[in-house]
Amino acid sequence: MKGMMMHRPLNIADLITFAAENHPQGEIVSVRTEGDIHRTTYAQTAGRIAQLAHGLKHLGIARGDRIATLAWNGYRHFELYYAISGIGAVCHTINPRLSAEQMTYIFNHAKDRMLFVDTTFLPIVENLRDLLPTGLKVVVLTERAHMPDTTLEGVLCYEDVLDGEDTLFSWPEIAEDDAAGLCYTSGTTGNPKGTLYSHRSTVLHALYTCVSIPRPLKAGNRILPVVPLFHVNAWGLPYSAPLAGASLIFPGGGLDGKSLFDLMDSEKVYSAWGVPTVWHGLLNEIGRRGRLPDGLKDIVVGGSAATRSLIEDFETRGVNVCHAWGMTEMSPLGTQCNLPSALADIPVEERMQRKQSQGRRVFGVEMKIVDDAGRRLSHDGRTPGHLHVRGNTVTAGYYEDPEASAKVFDDDGWFCTGDIATIDSDGFLRITDRSKDLIKSGGEWISSLDLENIVMSHEGVANCAVIAVPDPKWEERPLLIVQPREDAQPQKEDLLSLLGSHVAKWQLPDDVVFVEELPMTATGKVSKLNLRKQFRENRG
Ligand code: AMP
Repeated sequence: MKGMMMHRPLNIADLITFAAENHPQGEIVSVRTEGDIHRTTYAQTAGRIAQLAHGLKHLGIARGDRIATLAWNGYRHFELYYAISGIGAVCHTINPRLSAEQMTYIFNHAKDRMLFVDTTFLPIVENLRDLLPTGLKVVVLTERAHMPDTTLEGVLCYEDVLDGEDTLFSWPEIAEDDAAGLCYTSGTTGNPKGTLYSHRSTVLHALYTCVSIPRPLKAGNRILPVVPLFHVNAWGLPYSAPLAGASLIFPGGGLDGKSLFDLMDSEKVYSAWGVPTVWHGLLNEIGRRGRLPDGLKDIVVGGSAATRSLIEDFETRGVNVCHAWGMTEMSPLGTQCNLPSALADIPVEERMQRKQSQGRRVFGVEMKIVDDAGRRLSHDGRTPGHLHVRGNTVTAGYYEDPEASAKVFDDDGWFCTGDIATIDSDGFLRITDRSKDLIKSGGEWISSLDLENIVMSHEGVANCAVIAVPDPKWEERPLLIVQPREDAQPQKEDLLSLLGSHVAKWQLPDDVVFVEELPMTATGKVSKLNLRKQFRENRG
């Protein structure tokens, strides 16, 4: 027997409409590229989103079109999120830190029709001009008075697109499974892969997040996403915060400890979300000033493992740390580690142990760990296995990439995360290793295999490996280990300059080590496990 309830599609535009009606005074505060601080409310923003939607329609944008953004966290980027998806197009956020090669691939793979770009990133686009999709229309995210000189032709000014448009828009009915957002993530080999979020997955993710991390997500609270809007939708905050009625404080490009401290202090930020590297910077500043930013009570840390010292440093100062784990392919939230009330009074040592784990699954995400043959392993907190997940907010396949998609699902259709983990009997997940050959530096991926392929093209190299070594600031940094050909003496500088012509500067290994022979596994692969052990202390 079927239930007899209405079926209304879940739709992203409803989130901002709801916020404008129920939390009209909820604020969006942004540090602008123009240099000042901009303030607006959800009610006013809903009006500008409507104007932008009209502007996009007048520019000929149709359902399913991909519209790229290359921008910091700010109110205009937020408006794009809603207006683009609201008219049925796809908001494609691009990470400005990617190499020129990766970025060119992404633009062309997505076949973007328009690009909205911050003035800061305009030079990137100018450099790539001949490599971008033909007919790509570029809009600069600023007002007429601040329009920069550019060598690009036919560039539009963002505020001109909105100017004179109606502040009401009748949002079209969109099927809830239609695409709304697109975000590429680096693969272990080859090209980046696109996760294509739907209206349904995005709205469900917002609901799941509000339920799973309720402490900061409350009306009246002020939340600062340091995590960028170009990285998995800033962990969904542009959707969950308006839904909950929390205000958003956008830091623009000022992500160093001092700038963040000043902004948090003056804006009375209650909760801030970001990767560990950012929090190390903030903690240095807190130490220097001998106090917390006024009002700071809560930190959400994810993207890489939160260390004990990071958790302890904040918690002894009275700031709650919520350690979270997730992936671009999961929208991203998978687990969070706010302790349940039953564990509120556990001894400090046990609390620290628990908090270092990645926590328990959020509603809507199922997790299992399996052995190499795909057999389920017990959740005993001791047995590590491959972590597989499924749920309504988990990818069902990469955008236009059947080859990559075929590799990431097990026989039962669960998504293989590439993380190795244990799960204990209380459901706490602990990431213990990574099976994917990637390095995560300051929250951004570096592909070992991509670097290795480039180095192998050098005539003096017999074999090589790039591994992650721990780093106090960036969590991990790449180290290149080279086995030279007999009678050859490749030079460190030559190898780094070869790499430098292909990848972004921050992706370059910090050091190059030459060895007579690389350790091999039984199956004839370089044993990275051995190398990681051997070079754990190598810091470049
Ligand atoms: P991304 O798709 O760039 O967000 O990266 C997702 C990956 O980052 C995961 O598969 C993990 O390898 C890693 N990661 C994310 N959060 C954590 C965490 N809290 N602890 C350890 N690794 C993490």
